[in-house]
Amino acid sequence: MGQTRGMSATVPTSTIDRLATRRSERELLGQLHGAPEARFLVLAGARAAISSSEDRRQASVRWFAADELARLKISTADALFLGGDRKTFSGRFAVALGDAEAEAHADALAPLVDLRSLLTQGVLAQEDFSLLAEAKMLSAWHETAKYCGRCGGKTQGRDGGWKVACTQCGAEQFPRVDPCVIMLVTHGENCILAHEPRFPEKMYSTLAGFVEPGEDIRSAVRRETLEEVGVPIGDVAFFGSQPWPFQHSLMIGCTAAALSDTITIDRKEIDDARWFGRSEVRDMLAMKHPRGLFVPGGHAIAHAMIRRWAEET
Ligand SMILES: [Zn+2]
Repeated sequence: MGQTRGMSATVPTSTIDRLATRRSERELLGQLHGAPEARFLVLAGARAAISSSEDRRQASVRWFAADELARLKISTADALFLGGDRKTFSGRFAVALGDAEAEAHADALAPLVDLRSLLTQGVLAQEDFSLLAEAKMLSAWHETAKYCGRCGGKTQGRDGGWKVACTQCGAEQFPRVDPCVIMLVTHGENCILAHEPRFPEKMYSTLAGFVEPGEDIRSAVRRETLEEVGVPIGDVAFFGSQPWPFQHSLMIGCTAAALSDTITIDRKEIDDARWFGRSEVRDMLAMKHPRGLFVPGGHAIAHAMIRRWAEET
């Protein structure tokens, strides 16, 4: 790995302490949960209840008091513990609703906005996105951790939702995070951007892929780049990282120096990839590309990596 280069867009100014070492204190969690100062965010699948400015250019997490949710008959009994406010020490929790329940309360919770749009539009403060990512990744994990992987018994949530234990054999499971490499491949004054079938038409982004068991980050960058575009990689440098709650990934951003400029596309994964020069990428960032091509927007780490490179002279 090369030197660490900070990325301002992902530096959190955290006002909430996760209190990770104290989650197992049942009495403390009970007190924080029962106090009138406790606040709850509400998720419905990949959508979150937010407050939005009138022009919709800024949004923040919408925090509910327990009595507001009680009036809506939304239970906070299984709320997931996110942490405590550093100043007031009031507890912060997440309530995850099923589709039917979310539909029943759609008016009271509006606007319920898709996390991916919130991220790509860049309307949320970094800390708010991190809290929603924390809540979404935890709640999505609970959907798949209802039964024990060892004996098939039912599991029960513990530690504010940060682990489940089997009611039959006692085996414990913890939330998982899947590491994923995302790399800006450069060669001289050009970089590789690719279009995947699932992308919006005309959007090009950096290459990405999952880290495999037993693999280090640099090897994953080299393997994925070779697989997707047939380009061998020399130096790999760490850029920054970002939680990616679709489903539960951690994006590890790297810059990667290509040893060859010949691209051979793997059509199973991507439908187009080519070299882009800095001025063309600057046009894409400014939404002024003659053919309407653009790059991911907002707080996506791909955007930060592409912008950093395009603005280097
Ligand atoms: Zn079990």
